[in-house]
Amino acid sequence: MNDPDVIVVGAGLAGLVATHELSKAGKRVLVLDQENRNNLGGQAWWSLAGLFFVDSPEQRRAGIRDSFDLALADWLGSARFDRDEDHWPRKWAESYVRFAATEKRGYLRDLGLRVLPMPGWAERGDGKAGGHGNSVPRFHMTWGVGPELVRVFQEPVERAEQHGLVEFAFRHRVDELIIESDAVAGVRGSVLESCDDLDRGVASSRTEVDDFELRASAVIVTSGGIGHNFDAIRRNWPVDRLGEPPEHMIAGVPAYVDGRMLDASEQVGASLINRDRMWHYPEGIHNWDPVWPNHAIRIIAGPSSIWLDANGNRLEAPNYPGFDALGSLTRVLSTGHDYSWFILNQSIISREFALSGSEQNPDVAEKNVSEFVRSRLSRQATGPVEAFKQNGVDFVISDNVEDLIEKMNSISRGPLLDTGQVGEAIRQRDRDVNHKYGKDLQLMAIRNARSYRPERTRIAKPHEILDADHGPLIAVRLNVCTRKTLGGLETNLDSQVLRPDGSPFPGLYAAGEVAGFGGGGVHGYNALEGTFVGGCIFSGLAAGRALSRTLPESPSRVPAAA
Ligand SMILES: Cc1cc2nc3c(=O)[nH]c(=O)nc-3n(C[C@H](O)[C@H](O)[C@H](O)COP(=O)(O)OP(=O)(O)OC[C@H]3O[C@@H](n4cnc5c(N)ncnc54)[C@H](O)[C@@H]3O)c2cc1C
Repeated sequence: MNDPDVIVVGAGLAGLVATHELSKAGKRVLVLDQENRNNLGGQAWWSLAGLFFVDSPEQRRAGIRDSFDLALADWLGSARFDRDEDHWPRKWAESYVRFAATEKRGYLRDLGLRVLPMPGWAERGDGKAGGHGNSVPRFHMTWGVGPELVRVFQEPVERAEQHGLVEFAFRHRVDELIIESDAVAGVRGSVLESCDDLDRGVASSRTEVDDFELRASAVIVTSGGIGHNFDAIRRNWPVDRLGEPPEHMIAGVPAYVDGRMLDASEQVGASLINRDRMWHYPEGIHNWDPVWPNHAIRIIAGPSSIWLDANGNRLEAPNYPGFDALGSLTRVLSTGHDYSWFILNQSIISREFALSGSEQNPDVAEKNVSEFVRSRLSRQATGPVEAFKQNGVDFVISDNVEDLIEKMNSISRGPLLDTGQVGEAIRQRDRDVNHKYGKDLQLMAIRNARSYRPERTRIAKPHEILDADHGPLIAVRLNVCTRKTLGGLETNLDSQVLRPDGSPFPGLYAAGEVAGFGGGGVHGYNALEGTFVGGCIFSGLAAGRALSRTLPESPSRVPAAA
């Protein structure tokens, strides 16, 4: 394309949303990506596409009373904004919660996206009414998960491509922003050797075969975060809040999530803030069938598994599975070890283990209703969970607790667990099951969770973990799974990148994870989940709409059909 109005750097979800909005307005967009076309949609394709909606019809039908005020209170209690540079993140938070309570669901429905009827309850919180966490279930999983979320934007963008309004240049890696008269005028970079046949997510060659220089009226950076760049994660790790960075980490995102454009933008004078805020999970397992290097899968567990630290001590309230990702991560790392353990049994795994990743949920990905219902009600775990149980290096299985602990010790990366101590912790917990009103806080939390009707089928009825009828016993070694970057390029509500003095950087916009999902850190210190793909949509829309408004009219161009 000779004279694009806008260059978009990154064909992930945020890039597709911005491109869609621009092409609807008749703007000419050149989209550059360092990967091949098979990777269109970026990380979002791999996601569950869980969406944070507020006061949705799905919530109301499930008996949940949600509101903008409650959601904003939850957001602010989680974000705990406390810095001068939180000015724009705070504004983004308010606008984003309003979007989630108003336009978001309708906008996606108009594009053809549907969600499951039962909102899930992610990040149940840190146990304080005013603290971190969702007071009510708000995680709306897309029917068709990540591939469907990508499809609803990819299809109109590809139609615009056919009309000549959009052009893609794959294997084009941007290394530098061109500055002229104090404004961004384009990009420079390297053409990487072609790899058309490489499957989605597989790490690609970085061999350069050419270079390029391209110009446009504006550049939107939508290049994602730093989740696969362990050096950058360690460099920016908030030791004061989370403790020492883990020695052993596994990657919850593909290799292209490398943070390169953050440095390139900062080098020309863009404001990069909150780089020490990040969102990783303590419940990562090594993928036995990896796609990208060090491929981690996160277990999204219901509340019943017993969670032990590396020394064999049970995590205290409220560090139960699915409650407080960073709180539990901090507690796990406080032992000086970078792993922990779940102990559970067959009844719990079959009801409560879900794996994050579209490829790990083929029934929802393929929109197969009968398989979805069958797999969720079966005594067997889902196929992918069973496959991990059989093949995963982090899983051990046994009929008796002594043998289970021996097997756990055989895969330990630290202290050997004491059979008597761990066995007693499980027996103590089991004794409390037999009273409706016991003193074990985790059991109380399970009963509370089961009082939300849709969760009844997803949470095992409280029972003795050592009861052979619910066996075999299962232990899982949990590792730190890297994922999201909460800080990033500081932007105003039009997704325009700012300079450190607060003035807009002419010609430069950013959206999605590279912008901390808006403002340079809309989540503050903590996320409520389902807010990341939504953040890409909201900030991508803001960039696309702002540029559609401000770029000069091009009367000869026909807007692409939506
Ligand atoms: C397994 C998994 C499950 C998830 N589940 C959820 C969920 O349920 N709900 C939720 O809200 N979020 C979820 N997320 C997070 C969410 O998917 C991501 O945060 C989001 O998709 C990021 O989108 P993005 O467009 O900002 O960046 P990306 O998807 O990372 O796309 C960036 C693109 O930019 C390209 N790029 C990078 N640098 C350059 C360069 N220098 N030159 C050219 N191109 C470049 C990359 O190749 C890539 O294609 C999940 C993520 C994963 C991996």
